[in-house]
Amino acid sequence: MDVVIDLGRISRNVSAIKRATGVAVLGVVKADAYGLGAREVAGAVRELVDGWCVFSLDEAIAAGLGGTGKPTLAIGPAEAERVAEYVGHNVRPGVCCAEDARALRAARGVLCVDTGMRRFACPAEEVERVIEAGGIDEAFTHAARLDQVERLVEMTGGRGLRLHAAGSALLGEPRAWLDAVRPGLAMYEGAMRVSGRLAEVREARGPVGYTGFTAGRIGVMVGGYSNGVRKGRCVVNGRMARLAEVGMQSSYVDLSEIEARAGDEVILLGEGVGAAEVAGDWGTSPQAVLVGLGLSGRRRYL
Ligand SMILES: *Cc1c(COP(=O)(O)O)cnc(C)c1O
Repeated sequence: MDVVIDLGRISRNVSAIKRATGVAVLGVVKADAYGLGAREVAGAVRELVDGWCVFSLDEAIAAGLGGTGKPTLAIGPAEAERVAEYVGHNVRPGVCCAEDARALRAARGVLCVDTGMRRFACPAEEVERVIEAGGIDEAFTHAARLDQVERLVEMTGGRGLRLHAAGSALLGEPRAWLDAVRPGLAMYEGAMRVSGRLAEVREARGPVGYTGFTAGRIGVMVGGYSNGVRKGRCVVNGRMARLAEVGMQSSYVDLSEIEARAGDEVILLGEGVGAAEVAGDWGTSPQAVLVGLGLSGRRRYL
């Protein structure tokens, strides 16, 4: 399968976020930049962002984020014994308890407060103690809704801390921007194109495949669930089609209404097929679609 990443589109997305919000942008490049390639994405937008956000120290090291000249926030569980590495790679750990905050003081831990996510986050009654223990100057929360942003401000405001809460879902909400935004999905919107090729096209005579589905004409695409492919929409020769059954390394495309021949392209993402629509077909999130399909083949960069 063919995966093409448009780095120019990612740069334009980041610039648009920066222009719209006017606050610092922490580019979320965790999970290998949602399958788009953290090292390549970081190289493309390093001048545009104010910092990075990853899950773990090891992700920051693997992507070479320390070499971009911008600081990184690692939001996963803090690794208290690796303080020198945090400092050396310009990574600030998220901290949510006083012991970690104290042990990682030299790495300038960032307080993560619990406003409802109930993971890697500090409960309200501990906030004061953690701020004290870590010499904290920045705090954030994982927020899906505006009331969580308000909760963060209630719990940590008025102390001169730098505050942030908004991921992509809250970019349209000015009251959520605070001092910085942390877009993941919104950076990658429209930047990944994934396609396979038809190895065979034939008129179906009777039931097809493991499930015995029926179709007038079928195509067999190389690429299956081992490539992250799931049942759902696709585009063949400019027409909307459907992946009717997915196997380990090949999939059946229902071509009943579509002229196609072996060698034609099957577009799974991009060119009128958005990650949100595919996510609807798959019963998952757009982020999961990107991560799944980003690893489906060798990535090429524009
Ligand atoms: C993943 C993540 C984000 C980005 O989420 P999107 O919805 O993809 O923009 C922001 N903040 C935190 C803490 C995250 O874990």
